[in-house]
Amino acid sequence: MARIPHVIAGEKVTDAERTQPVYNPATGEVQHELSIASVETVQQAVAAAAAALPMWRKTSLTKRADVFFNLRQLLKQRTPELAAIVTSEHGKVLSDAAGEIARGLENVEFASGLLHLLKGERDEQVSTGVDVHSVKQPVGVVAAITPFNFPVMVPLWMIASAIACGNTVVLKPSERDPSASIFIADLFREAGLPDGVLNVVNGDKVAVDTLLDAPEVKAISFVGSTPIAKYIYERAAANGKRVQALGGAKNHMIVMPDADLDMSADAAVSAAYGSAGERCMAVSVVVAVGGVGDVLVQKIADRMKDLKIGDGTDPASEMGPLITAEAKARVESYVEGAAAEGATVVVDGRDDKFEGNGFFTGVSLIDHVKTDSKVYRDEIFGPVLAVVRVDTYEEGVKLINEHQFGNGTAIFTRDGGLARQFEFEVEAGMVGINVPIPVPVGSFSFGGWKDSLFGDSHIYGPESIHFYTRSKVITTRWPNPEQSKVDLGFPSNN
Ligand code: NAD
Repeated sequence: MARIPHVIAGEKVTDAERTQPVYNPATGEVQHELSIASVETVQQAVAAAAAALPMWRKTSLTKRADVFFNLRQLLKQRTPELAAIVTSEHGKVLSDAAGEIARGLENVEFASGLLHLLKGERDEQVSTGVDVHSVKQPVGVVAAITPFNFPVMVPLWMIASAIACGNTVVLKPSERDPSASIFIADLFREAGLPDGVLNVVNGDKVAVDTLLDAPEVKAISFVGSTPIAKYIYERAAANGKRVQALGGAKNHMIVMPDADLDMSADAAVSAAYGSAGERCMAVSVVVAVGGVGDVLVQKIADRMKDLKIGDGTDPASEMGPLITAEAKARVESYVEGAAAEGATVVVDGRDDKFEGNGFFTGVSLIDHVKTDSKVYRDEIFGPVLAVVRVDTYEEGVKLINEHQFGNGTAIFTRDGGLARQFEFEVEAGMVGINVPIPVPVGSFSFGGWKDSLFGDSHIYGPESIHFYTRSKVITTRWPNPEQSKVDLGFPSNN
């Protein structure tokens, strides 16, 4: 069985001591063994990144940009291959895997504009004969730690901007679907990125903790579940690093009485069950306002009957399996417990039967969900849609604002004034107006509020340039030495 290696200074290396199986979720079979990095292996990767830093920092912006232009072409050409890798380890259907690559490409395209993005500022004559200018310099070695659910897009959220800014990187992808990261590292190399600028280590907590503690690592970008995000934020910050740690979500979609209910039902089904609900921007709660509940729930349930669940490599499949057997058991336990929490299980995904040992579950719809229930409070991260009924818009927005998570949210309405009010007062980082999954385009930044993000920078886009650079401000004068004299006063501008 092939062992998935690390990539350190351009070399593929494996750890002999610890390995972990990588499954094909559609069959339940182990398809690869993954090398799990030891402390020493991670330290080698950090050392490789530190060694490459002076060279990469000195590389001209034009040459850096060339890498991203080349990478864009390569990623486009190789999308089918990369999508097949994603589907085989993650399980999502091929078209969804290709969609994730297309969204990741936006970050590569953004990074290819680095000459513009890294521009400093200059003020002439701030005092007589004195000029000031600022430059943006790389922070140094950056660690990128990523979740299983977007094995291409999330690594590209981080590494494209980090590398464009002149940093070198150690990427630690999810141990559940790591092969896409190795493929991406190979493409970067083919695109002209020098060895050592992007290193990949596979592993678990041992690898992550080594990165969090390594003095050479100056910044940590993390995306994953909230408990781990909080841990990463605290430990990295305690070690003096800058850190952005994006966590979990419970995204609410408000449906107002004036909304088109067919359009709302289409959007709810697409956003709740796409990628088996394993998206941090999936809609997991529909808030039905003012009596639309009965009709809306019926329309959602009607659409669910036609969804094709199966192996992601089958072009007929619209939804694949969950990532692991444990994830399936966990998701199904919420459906099992829902009735005892006072909710109504309208569609029970556990009723669907699948052949073989894949980690499939059906789609579930749970109505009359109480806001103190686990189905409502927890991030389920599976194809389970909860419906909460409220009388007024105010009650709906209060629910969102009081929830622990604040990643994305949406409102479906034909009332522009109300939509504006929602935009103004809702406590979430990304808002959709008649858009159920408002993932910002690559020229904006992505991030949630509350327990969906620890740190103060959103990820990718303009905020990533701020996160991955340090400012330096230079004050300059070229005085006539003959006019020089000792002056103990504080320098003032005149
Ligand atoms: P996870 O938190 O289990 O793992 C994320 C990363 O952390 C992996 O690389 C993993 O190896 C590492 N890790 C896991 N346990 C660790 C520990 N104890 N100590 C140190 N490192 C550890 O998340 P996941 O299951 O891979 O991904 C799903 C989660 O990610 C969901 O909660 C989802 O909402 C979230 N997510 C959030 C966003 C966002 O933008 N906010 C995007 C994608 C996914």
